[in-house]
Amino acid sequence: MKFGTKCIHAGVEPDPATGAVMTPIYQTSTYAQDSPGQHKGYEYARTQNPTRHALENNLASLENGAAAICFSSGLAAMDAIIRMLNPGDEVLSVNDLYGGSYRQLTKVHGRFGIKSKFISMNEPEDIVPHISEHTKLLWIETPTNPMLNVVDIEAICALAQKHGVLTCVDNTFASPYLQRPIELGADIVMHSATKYLGGHSDVVHGAVIVKDPAHEAHFRFTQNAVGAVPGPQDCFLLLRGIKTLHLRVERACENAAKVAKHLQQHPKVNQVYYPGLEDHPQHELAKRQMKHFGAMVSFDLHQNTLDYATHVLSNTKVFTLAESLGGVESLIGHPASMTHASIPREERLKVGLTDSLIRLSIGIEDADDLIGDLDTALEKLPAAREIPASTH
Ligand SMILES: *Cc1c(COP(=O)(O)O)cnc(C)c1O
Repeated sequence: MKFGTKCIHAGVEPDPATGAVMTPIYQTSTYAQDSPGQHKGYEYARTQNPTRHALENNLASLENGAAAICFSSGLAAMDAIIRMLNPGDEVLSVNDLYGGSYRQLTKVHGRFGIKSKFISMNEPEDIVPHISEHTKLLWIETPTNPMLNVVDIEAICALAQKHGVLTCVDNTFASPYLQRPIELGADIVMHSATKYLGGHSDVVHGAVIVKDPAHEAHFRFTQNAVGAVPGPQDCFLLLRGIKTLHLRVERACENAAKVAKHLQQHPKVNQVYYPGLEDHPQHELAKRQMKHFGAMVSFDLHQNTLDYATHVLSNTKVFTLAESLGGVESLIGHPASMTHASIPREERLKVGLTDSLIRLSIGIEDADDLIGDLDTALEKLPAAREIPASTH
């Protein structure tokens, strides 16, 4: 089956009890047993739920993995992955990753003796000196958030394999339509399904997809033993959202390319970060690794202050000022004060995340309306001298 067909059919069978074409929402916490221990494979809904199983089979197929295991959020999925490690083990992570992932690694797992090191992965060979006998997991995010660097999954996974280190790719920003890390050598794929997979900004959900069937047991155990499971209604919304994943992402990428090109020649914009632009440092890699260049675009302003950014952020009408990404509607956000506020300012500046950096999640509206909306907001931007110096 090809990708678009999988989006609609993989893992989903008409309901055996009624023939319902859409997977029913099995809103139950428990299941009747014929006699003690005699049941139909379902005992208690933390452990098993048919709506969740259909979704898990669908996701395993989309990422070409052996199995998918769903969680109540992307961060719950990440937590289950880090629980593969023991105190004293070390995670090597890309340095401009999702703020919540950074917070979890440092403030949650750090307390239990799991160390994390954050490095640039732009040059795979530069990773080698950081690998020690304690390194157990390489954590990759690509494209990165919010600087939209692209890291070479295939090269890094090959290198990790040579050193006996597991690799996990947070594939949230790309979605399996654009990029399938397991096919490139990754051991584990993680998703905040809240974003492109759900696609409609109406559900919080996470997933882990494993390449090696032997890794499934850890995640099944953790799903049940820790209990961060998604509800059946959320699984249904995911299954429904995924049916149009290929169409949504295709259109969003098309729009993003138009917006990025437009911003690049705008006089009030300093720099545009988008892997689809020819001057992006990893443009060739992105071309190889991804089907299209994604629908996230970041840019900063020619006057690099918080006040200047605030002005743009408060003056769009089609773009909604909000956290998150990957929905049908376009969002505009300010990483320094929103998604990445949990990262210290010095750490942020090191990776180029300046105070005026603006992040766009491009949706599937008409591109002309998106461009017009940004133009209007940028037009209202006063000349630099009219804005009092920032006190931040
Ligand atoms: C949103 C996000 C997460 C966290 O997922 P939740 O579903 O919000 O818990 C992790 N990684 C990336 C790249 C994200 O965008």
